[in-house]
Amino acid sequence: MTRPEFDLLIVGGGLMGAGLARAVRDADPAARIAIVDTGPTIGGTRGQHLHEVDDDELWRRYNRSLEAGTQAHYVGVVAAPDPGSTVVGAAPGVYHLGSFGEDAAQLPGAAVAWNSGGMGAHWTAATPTPYGAEVFAFDGAAEWDADLARAQELLQVHPDPYGQDPAAAPVIDRLREMFAQTSDPGRGVQAMPMAVQPTGDACRRGPLRRTGPNVIFPPIADGADPAFALLADSLCLGLVMDGAIARGARIRHLPTGGEREVTAARVAVCADAMRTPQLLFASGIRPSALGSHLNEHVFVSGRVLVDPEKVPLELAALRPPLRGEWHVASHWLPHSDARQPFQGQIMSALVLDEDLRTPLGYFVQLSWYIPTETRDENRVEFSDTEADAAGLPRMRVRFSYSDTDRRTIAEGREAQRSAGEALGEFVPGRDSEVLVPGSSLHYTGTVRMGVDPVTSVCDPDGLVRGTRNVYVAGNGVIPTPMTANTTLAGMVTVVRAARGILRSGAGS
Ligand SMILES: Cc1cc2nc3c(=O)[nH]c(=O)nc-3n(C[C@H](O)[C@H](O)[C@H](O)COP(=O)(O)OP(=O)(O)OC[C@H]3O[C@@H](n4cnc5c(N)ncnc54)[C@H](O)[C@@H]3O)c2cc1C
Repeated sequence: MTRPEFDLLIVGGGLMGAGLARAVRDADPAARIAIVDTGPTIGGTRGQHLHEVDDDELWRRYNRSLEAGTQAHYVGVVAAPDPGSTVVGAAPGVYHLGSFGEDAAQLPGAAVAWNSGGMGAHWTAATPTPYGAEVFAFDGAAEWDADLARAQELLQVHPDPYGQDPAAAPVIDRLREMFAQTSDPGRGVQAMPMAVQPTGDACRRGPLRRTGPNVIFPPIADGADPAFALLADSLCLGLVMDGAIARGARIRHLPTGGEREVTAARVAVCADAMRTPQLLFASGIRPSALGSHLNEHVFVSGRVLVDPEKVPLELAALRPPLRGEWHVASHWLPHSDARQPFQGQIMSALVLDEDLRTPLGYFVQLSWYIPTETRDENRVEFSDTEADAAGLPRMRVRFSYSDTDRRTIAEGREAQRSAGEALGEFVPGRDSEVLVPGSSLHYTGTVRMGVDPVTSVCDPDGLVRGTRNVYVAGNGVIPTPMTANTTLAGMVTVVRAARGILRSGAGS
């Protein structure tokens, strides 16, 4: 039999695909790895975060969109295409599922990226540490800790990239005091770990660099790895299956429309939580749990202008933003399971005078993440007869909140209100909003990992049930309900899948 072109073909060149390539490469310098990634490149460098692009106009547009600090406000709103129309040629960006022709009326905020590097080129890069009910320690606490540390290493997480401004300490102290009684040890209000690296002002855009896919696995951009190939601008249409074995994948080069089969000894799908199950379905791989147990925490946005009467804040002493940054600080209130079920993502910004130097006020963003129950009936289904705008099986998302979810949302809003009122004038009807389902962009469970073949799509090594060499990794693989931002836990599934792939002999 002819030797396949690659030892490992990865579908998806976002953060997870890059993480998997890196983890396998670090362990096996000779493994022949390819990534197939779809959507156009933004800026000149593949897999680069938009914060780092050279193009000034593009950079300004990105900054403006992210200033709100709410990923939902970042998503491009494009009218759903006519049935049968195609996404090929659409501008790069993050689009609602409806824009892709999917039926996502029950999860209207849900979105996917249409660009090389996926959402990894856009993300804020907050990487809070999973805890309690979020942890999926199939092999015990020590292995979980080691995998988490490796995931943090792959994402290049820094514990406190913004650093602390002593003049702003009263704000965080106030919040810390408020939640001290209900927080588990070490889980009080603290600096947010972020996949952001202080570079000592070495970067053109400022001293803080975001982790994009090209930071995780540089050959995506520099092509300097002779055993690696990026199959860019290419849409994977499905895996080529021979019974339980994938022989490779069928891909279409979008600029030319040319199609070909790429052969590989193993295939790993890292195409986000929505398109990973879609691709398995398109390939005839349909474990019973495929698409089910879709989970998303609720996103309640909120913002308060700090009142110096309530918090002793000396505005003139506040540190100005670092070059290239719109926030001056990034903190979080970790959840403490049932004692304190909510995550607060607390990012602070100055209101500056026209000279852009003199602080007039201090805004604190209080984004509240509220966990929801994991339920089988929340799911994404795929059509055997209808195609979406990429030509893949059309999605239909079924999603609702349970009575418990609604109660938790009400409690979460109360906790957010207390935090807001402690800092300034906080009017929930004006300063807080429960965003529509899907708005967090943190979806999990659709290709969940587990030991039970009925309720999981892959085993704890990421091997898809019913196959011998198809792996999945990323947020969709996370089996637990997440209160936190999901990317770090998603990267833990990458670490697990890499181990499974290497055990199966990736380079042999
Ligand atoms: C504005 C914004 C802010 C965010 N902030 C945070 C944050 O602070 N913290 C956090 O944890 N998360 C955040 N996220 C979410 C985070 O970006 C995602 O969790 C992360 O990127 C997921 O990685 P991924 O590789 O699974 O998906 P992506 O990074 O989206 O990559 C998926 C890749 O798969 C490719 N693909 C899909 N289908 C196919 C196909 N059929 N053929 C070929 N290629 C395909 C896509 O083109 C894409 O490149 C944010 C997202 C956005 C948009």
